[in-house]
Amino acid sequence: LVELQVDAKAIKDLTNGYPLILKDAIVTSEVNVEEGTLIHLVDKNGGYIATGYYGAQNKGIGWVLTRKEKEQIDEKFFAKKIREAAEKRADFFASDDTSAFRVFNGEGDGIGGLTIDFFNGFYMVSWYSKGIYSFREDIYKGLKQAVNTRGIYEKLRFNTGDQDMDHNDYVSGEKGEFPLIIQENGMSYAVDLNDGAMTGIFLDQRNVRKALRDKYSNEKTVLNTFSYTGAFSVAAALGGAAGTTSVDLAKRSLPKTIEQFAVNGIDFESQDIKVMNVFDYFSYAARHDLKFDVVVLDPPSFARTKKMAFSTAKDYPKLIKDALAITADNGIIVASTNNSSFNMKKFKTFIEKGFADAGARFNILETHQLPEDFVVPHNYPEFNYLKVVFIKVIK
Ligand code: SAH
Repeated sequence: LVELQVDAKAIKDLTNGYPLILKDAIVTSEVNVEEGTLIHLVDKNGGYIATGYYGAQNKGIGWVLTRKEKEQIDEKFFAKKIREAAEKRADFFASDDTSAFRVFNGEGDGIGGLTIDFFNGFYMVSWYSKGIYSFREDIYKGLKQAVNTRGIYEKLRFNTGDQDMDHNDYVSGEKGEFPLIIQENGMSYAVDLNDGAMTGIFLDQRNVRKALRDKYSNEKTVLNTFSYTGAFSVAAALGGAAGTTSVDLAKRSLPKTIEQFAVNGIDFESQDIKVMNVFDYFSYAARHDLKFDVVVLDPPSFARTKKMAFSTAKDYPKLIKDALAITADNGIIVASTNNSSFNMKKFKTFIEKGFADAGARFNILETHQLPEDFVVPHNYPEFNYLKVVFIKVIK
């Protein structure tokens, strides 16, 4: 355990419940702390403020675990945290038509750097720093005490050096048979918990998929850009879309999207799936005078190809403008981003700029941020990274 002194501003924030330990908050000089070390944050007189752990991430150097000086950070502590988090999701556990959701959302549930997702009884644990991973044994014991785990898988989301390549995501319990078919509001999705960095579905978009299916797809043509496994296309098709077009440049998006349609009983041959760069597709569609009633935009925060680099913080207005060129008059654009470096207000200015540049007007129909199971720290909306806006085009 090391003691680190923090500045007055940090004391105020930490006391208010701010969960992140920022590098700049530390006034102790020349500190060289190992990943996973427990830290007592103290004021200039050595007075106790909070206990955290050291774990370097893009956002800070660690996370607060408790503000009770006597509380031990052990198996019991982790079991309690996970049990409390699971209790908050009682409705999800009891749901008849949804079997995949987030059980534990890092800092929102009191342990930054750790997320736990539920997939039909299987638990997927994601570790975001070497520091939090050093508590692995106690956290797994705590998890098994807190909930009934059918089987456990994990993802290491920090730089592990060369170990990276052959990491087996299976941890313990029953081995899953993949694809595992999960339910979400009555839709089916195929997931694989042991196949690279991602599982096949982004659970934080659940409410967006439901809105797209229930309110915007019936008899509409839907273009899904940056489509990954085509989860939005499936929702649109199940909502009665006249047709869907999914565009993603990753080769594996084709078999994965076919699979998502298949598990929902949709003939994939009746849908369009394109393996190509979205920006090339925009030119292609514009040249052929294609217009879509609904266009979904869900780019990664950063993307780089041989020809270009795209960043949502810089290029979203252009993306909106490109999309507008192939959106029907009075159509809908669903603009999404998970870039945590800007907030909803800023995102709306990108949308305004895109429309202004295209000489079009718009109405915002609905907005979404993280769903209920992706709990964010009280008072700190900056941890609510997801921003989705349903926009009605007025042309
Ligand atoms: N909308 C998806 C998730 C998108 S993840 C969903 O809801 O499931 C981002 C995807 O963008 C990845 O699958 C990646 O392959 C794709 N991608 C990144 N740059 C791209 C580009 N220039 N053109 C097409 N796809 C791209």
